[in-house]
Amino acid sequence: MEFFCKTCGKPKGDAEGWLLGFEGSAKPVMKYTINLRVKWDEQRACESNAVHFCSAECQDKYVAASYGDDTWAV
Ligand SMILES: [Zn+2]
Repeated sequence: MEFFCKTCGKPKGDAEGWLLGFEGSAKPVMKYTINLRVKWDEQRACESNAVHFCSAECQDKYVAASYGDDTWAV
C-alpha cells in the first residue's frame, strides 16, 4: 500500500520518520479530535481514520487548517 502526505502530497516510499494521526470525534463534546505524533506503524497506517504526514511541519499545517483552535490534540 502506498501512502501520501496529507499536506504536501509527497509519496512515502521507503522514507522513515513519517507521522500518523487518527481522526475521530470520540470525546463527548462537540469538538473534533485528532490523535497526533503517533509513530509510524504500517498496520495502523491502513486504518480508515488514519492521516499520514511526511513531517511534523506538514502535520502542524494540516491541523491548523483543518482544526484551528477547536482542536483537542492528545
Ligand atoms: Zn508533507
